[in-house]
Amino acid sequence: MTLLEVRDLSVTYPGGAAAVRGVDLSLEAGRKLGIAGESGCGKSTLALALLRLLPAGARVGGEILLHGEDVLTMRWGRVRAVRWAGASIVFQGAMHSLNPVHRVGDQIAEPILLHGKATPAAARKRTGELLEQVGLPAARARAYPHELSGGQRQRVMIAMALACDPRLIIADEPTTALDVMIQAQILRLIEQLVSGQELGLILISHDLTVLADTCDRLAVMYAGRVVEEGPARDVYEDARHPYAKALSAAFPRLGDPASRFAPGGLAGDPPDPAALPAGCAFHPRCPVALEVCAVEDQWPREAGPGRRAACVHLGAVVPPPAGPARDVRSTT
Ligand code: SF4
Repeated sequence: MTLLEVRDLSVTYPGGAAAVRGVDLSLEAGRKLGIAGESGCGKSTLALALLRLLPAGARVGGEILLHGEDVLTMRWGRVRAVRWAGASIVFQGAMHSLNPVHRVGDQIAEPILLHGKATPAAARKRTGELLEQVGLPAARARAYPHELSGGQRQRVMIAMALACDPRLIIADEPTTALDVMIQAQILRLIEQLVSGQELGLILISHDLTVLADTCDRLAVMYAGRVVEEGPARDVYEDARHPYAKALSAAFPRLGDPASRFAPGGLAGDPPDPAALPAGCAFHPRCPVALEVCAVEDQWPREAGPGRRAACVHLGAVVPPPAGPARDVRSTT
């Protein structure tokens, strides 16, 4: 069953910054989709757009179908009901997301109570169960965020995300601020919870190795567009798009000394979303650009079984979907 379907999604910030451009994605229940790309490529904007959490003034176009219902056209009451109970987000940097003056147990119980899912006593019991589910003693509910380690705080964030039994978890760089041991523990925990409960997971990271290990499918974003998408291992080990190739080559591979001593990489930075280059937005950095790349934009097209990529070197051109942009208020 399709849990989430994103069709031709675009987000433009005031000032003309095109942060997301014509993104199509879908996710089945119980599956895990990774979204990769450098900072500034639109990953977090995409995550925020999924639950209409973008700042006021952002222009959003396209469709975001959650269980077949378009999040972009929902009434506010419905959006509030869908947040936490339909889909929830784990943000990066738990210390910034948790309220420092409230006990973590109260913060986990808050969405349960707001959504009318339980009485205060039942919410307290559920909070203890959730903490145990993420590997913390129920007694830690009485702790304040500063009394917990970084890994424990991120576990609290995951418990909070699970509080109202959502069917979709969006995790935006959930392990970036953690050391590698704790990172591995948190990723394993997310994976177990998602698989055990048949949830859908969207995992956002700049680290392709993490995504290839955790996810079923992988989408690579550049300049607000998905430039390659396919089975996670295939995209990581045999990327078709020059940008996805460069991103993959930037990570040394275990058991491959050559990649450790001579990791690949890419000079320069992603373009300013308010001043994107004409043609393929990657052409100023692309090692295999042709003359046509500076004038002709590229859209994802078939690039092998179950794979799509947006490059002139790949497959036949498929015209972009044409849909009118709409203004959708994003904040509460
Ligand atoms: Fe490089 Fe051209 Fe392909 Fe863009 S379309 S990735 S510039 S070769």
